[in-house]
Parts: sequence; C-alpha cells; structure tokens
Amino acid sequence: MTGALVDSFGRIASDLRVSLTDRCNLRCTYCMPPEGVPWLPSPDILTDAEVARLVGVAVTRLGIREIRFTGGEPLLRPGLVAIVEATAALVPRPTISLTTNAIGLDRMAGALRQAGLDRVNVSLDTLDEDRFAALTHRRRFADTLAGLHGAAAAGLTPVKLNTVLIRGVNDDEAVPLLRFALAHGYELRFIEQMPLDAQHTWDRTTMVTADEILAALRADFTLLPDPVDRAGAPAETWLVDGYRDLAGRPARVGVIGSVTRPFCGDCDRTRLTADGQVRNCLFAREESDLRGPLRGGADDAGLAQRWQAAMWPKKPGHGIDDPTFLQPPRPMSAIGG
Ligand code: SF4
Repeated sequence: MTGALVDSFGRIASDLRVSLTDRCNLRCTYCMPPEGVPWLPSPDILTDAEVARLVGVAVTRLGIREIRFTGGEPLLRPGLVAIVEATAALVPRPTISLTTNAIGLDRMAGALRQAGLDRVNVSLDTLDEDRFAALTHRRRFADTLAGLHGAAAAGLTPVKLNTVLIRGVNDDEAVPLLRFALAHGYELRFIEQMPLDAQHTWDRTTMVTADEILAALRADFTLLPDPVDRAGAPAETWLVDGYRDLAGRPARVGVIGSVTRPFCGDCDRTRLTADGQVRNCLFAREESDLRGPLRGGADDAGLAQRWQAAMWPKKPGHGIDDPTFLQPPRPMSAIGG
C-alpha cells in the first residue's frame, strides 16, 4: 500500500466514484439540454483495461474500499460487466455499486450480479409517465421501472432510489415516491438539486430544500432517528416508523442536503472521470490528469503518488454559499453522482 488519499484537512478518501462514460440515453432537465452536450472525444476515454488498472491502483495502493460506477449512464458502457468483474477480483475486495437510470438493467442485472456488483442506486424523479417524459425528454418510464424491479429480483440490494425534486415540477411527489419505495422495499433518498447542470441555469429558488422535503414527509409518516452512524455518507437517514425493507430491517428514508446541509467536513470521496482526470471534489474547478502519465508509461507507484498529490489541496467544502462561487466547467453528466 502506498498510502492514503488524505487532504490538508485530514479527510481520507475511501470511496471512489468512477464515471465510465459521459453519454446518456436521457436528457434530464436539471442535467443537460434536450439536444444534449458535446461528448468527450472517444480517444480520450479510458479503455476497459485502463479503468481496471486505475481502480486497481486505488484499491491496492490507496485504501479505497468502496467503488461506485457512474456516468452519464454506465449501462451504456459496453465493457461494464468485464470492468465490474475485474474490480471484484481485487484484494481486498471493495464493495461495488452502480448509479443508473436502470434502462436495460432488467436484461443486465443477472450478469452484473454474477460479475460481482453488490447493489444499485436508481434515479427516479416521478411516478407519472408523462411527467417522466417532460423531465427526461424521453418516453422511457416503463423501461426504468422494469430495470429497477429487475435489479431487486437479481439481488442487487439494498436497492436505493435517488430523487431530485424541483419546485413546481415534481415537488408534489415526495409522499407518493416514499409510499412507492416502501411498498417495494427500496430505500429512497431525496437529493437537493445542485448547480452542476450543463446549461448553468441552476436557480436556488427552484431547489426544494431538505427542510421542505422533511416537512412534507412528516405530514404522512413518523420519521425516527436512525441509530446507525452516518460516518462520511452523503445521506442523512431516518427510520420510517412501521415499515420494513426487503431484508426485514427497519425501512429508511434519506435526504442529501448538499446545498443547505453540506457534509463536506466528513467527505470521504474521490472521483475519476471517464477521460482519466482525478477530481478531489464534485465541485472542483481543477482536475489532475492520470490518463497522460498512464499512457506515457508511468508505473503504479507513480500513478498512486499523482492521485495523492491531487487530493491534498481539496478545498474545505463546495463553497456554493460563497459569493465567489463558480460552477465547475465540467457538467454533472461528465462527473457522475
Ligand atoms: S461537495 Fe465536495 S467536499 Fe463536499 S461532500 Fe461533495 S465531494 Fe465532498
């Protein structure tokens, strides 16, 4: 082991988010315009072997214990199953999860489970088919639901749902979405909309805050404190009184209050983009290149040292509330959740 991914505030990254592609088969309004965005040049995209090598360096040399594959939409990556397989073969074996819109997951869930995928986070912002089409500019609601249920059937559990509420669009669905999740044994987490859209049109007034979400839920549910320590996890969670999940444990609901309840002080995340850049924060404006040194013949120790050097100057927090805050040039679709 070379050493930990520590920053100047003493935070240690043990959770690696890997974006496998910036491409997506949806056009969510809070992420990209209907016409999409210019994709990353294909020659810049890490090959499957390069992804597996960098993930290997992170796990065997830098103390990474959790891997989350993201996108764009990671199911669009042709080599996804092989990448998961290579990751599951690492020693020590990291936990492996996937953030996805679940389109096509019903067909792939079995192979991904077999390859070593542990669980999934599925993005679902509405239970209304027409509203889904308006929010994503695609009529794929049924495909997302089929993928979601397919994941549960394949044992990719706990199945977590990620929901972004937008004022005047789907903010009336907090309670119905929680009822849906509880009925299926899924763990729902609401995520405050963040200023990471490709259009740079994020507006704080349309963001539904954690407090508003909790107030809406408490009108219909009794939320109890969660005895499990949050550690560096993004979501604050509560037990939903009277409900159980698929494994018979007390059902939970979570809120990720990135903007109004930041959790940067305990951040344990580092990110690798599909074109081989290390981002020490979701909102970082600087990135550190690993693709060049890797293709230039750097050895694993050298790549590990570069990764460590990339994490040290990580800022104390996202700074969204600072008057000087500037949205990162790279959009969410090319960073991943
Ligand atoms: S905004 Fe940056 S520092 Fe804060 S929790 Fe997210 S990744 Fe960590």
